[in-house]
Amino acid sequence: MKKLLCSVFLITMILNLYAQSNQEKEPTFIKAGKLFDSEHGTILVNYIIKIENNKITEIGKNITIPKNGKVIDLSDYTVLPGLIDGHTHLMTLDDLNDDYPMAQKVLFEGDALRVLRGANRAKTWLEAGFTTVRDLGDSGPFLDVALKRAINEGTTVGPRMFVSGPIITSEGGQVFGLLKSERGVIKDEYTIIKNVDDAINAVRIHVNYGADLIKICANNSPNNTSLTIDEMKAIVKMAHRYNRKVTAHATYDMAVWEAVNAGVDGIEHGYQISDTTLTLMAKKGVALIPTDISKPLYHKAYDILDYQGDRDAAIKSIKDNYQDRLQRAIKAGVTILTGSDNYIDFKMPQGEAAKNILISYEEEGMKPFNILQSSTYLSAKFMGKEDELGILKEGAYADIIAVKGDLEHDFSNTIFNVVFVMKNGEIYVEKE
Ligand SMILES: [Zn+2]
Repeated sequence: MKKLLCSVFLITMILNLYAQSNQEKEPTFIKAGKLFDSEHGTILVNYIIKIENNKITEIGKNITIPKNGKVIDLSDYTVLPGLIDGHTHLMTLDDLNDDYPMAQKVLFEGDALRVLRGANRAKTWLEAGFTTVRDLGDSGPFLDVALKRAINEGTTVGPRMFVSGPIITSEGGQVFGLLKSERGVIKDEYTIIKNVDDAINAVRIHVNYGADLIKICANNSPNNTSLTIDEMKAIVKMAHRYNRKVTAHATYDMAVWEAVNAGVDGIEHGYQISDTTLTLMAKKGVALIPTDISKPLYHKAYDILDYQGDRDAAIKSIKDNYQDRLQRAIKAGVTILTGSDNYIDFKMPQGEAAKNILISYEEEGMKPFNILQSSTYLSAKFMGKEDELGILKEGAYADIIAVKGDLEHDFSNTIFNVVFVMKNGEIYVEKE
C-alpha cells in the first residue's frame, strides 16, 4: 500500500511538473503603444511583441492574441530594447572624499565583501533599465566572472554581464598612493605585463578565466606609465584570434593614436583627441565610448565635496571640452557608444547615477534617438550581438523596458521614468 501511495505521489508530481513546464511555454503578448526601432532610430506605434520563454518570437501590428492569452498592456508607454551600459565597474565604488580610494579598495575591502557589494549594485543597473553591461575591470581577481555566473544561474539578480577580467596594463596599473613595498597588491587588481610575451600570455589567461573581451590601459592615468604599441599589437592579435574585442582606456591624443594604430576596437574616455586621430578612428571603425559626466552629477559631486569655488564656471569649462570632442567625433563619422564609467558614490542608486550618461550626451548636443541607438543597437553591434540584444525583433532575447513620457521632447525626465523591465523573458520592474 505504502509503495502504491509513493507511486501515485510520484506520478502526480511528474504530471504537475509537466503542466508547469507547459504553462511556462505559454506565450506572453506585450502591447506597445509606442515602440523604439533601435536599428533605424524611429518610433513605431501600436505594435505587439510575442514572447515565448526568453525570446521574442513575433513582432508586428497584426498579431492575433488568443482569447485567454497573457497580455502585458504597455499601450500608454514607449517600449524599448533593454539599455546597454558599455563601461561599468560593478565591483568598485569610490568615496569622493577619500584621498586614495583605489589603494583603500585593494588593501582593505577583500574579495568576498567586494563581490557581495557588487551584486547589490548590479541590481540597481537592471532596475534602471540597463539589461546588459560591459564590466571593464577594477573588479579584483576575476570577481566579475564570478558575479556574471551568479547572475546567469539565478543566484543573484542583475543585468547580463560581458566582462573583461582585470585590466591588462603596464607597471603600477592605475593605483596611486601605494608605498613601493606594497606594490605587490596591484597584481590582483591588474594583469601587469612587462613585454610582448607577457602580453600574449595575458590574453590566454583572460580567455581561460572567462573574459568576454579584453580591456587595456593605453595610458595608466592617474599614473604616468603606458603600454608600448608592440605590446598592444600583440594583445589585439591574440584577442582577435580568440574572437574577443579589445577596448582601451586612453585619455590623451597620443595614447588614443597609438591604441588605434595597434588595432583596438574601442577607445574609452578619449578626453583629448585630435581631428587627425578621429579621422583614423572613423576609417578603421574604432568606436568611442565617451564616459562624460552630466551637469546634475557634477552638482551632486560638488555638494559631497562641499566645493566652495565657482561651480558654474568649473562645470562649463569641463562640459565645453566634452561637447567639443563629442561633436568633432560625430562629425568625423566615429561610432559613439554609451558607457557611464560610474564608480563614484553619488549617494544614490548606482544604476540611476549611471543613467546620467545619456543625459550628458544630450547636454552635449546629441539627439535623443541617436543616444538611444548608441545605448542599444550600436552597443550590441559592437559586441557582434545585434540580432540578439539591443533590438526588438524575432529571435532576440526578451530584454524589454518601457518608459512613461515623451522621449523625443522630454528626454531627460522620460528616460528616468522606467515603468517596466524584463530581462530574458522575466519581469523585474512593473509599475502602474
Ligand atoms: Zn572606467
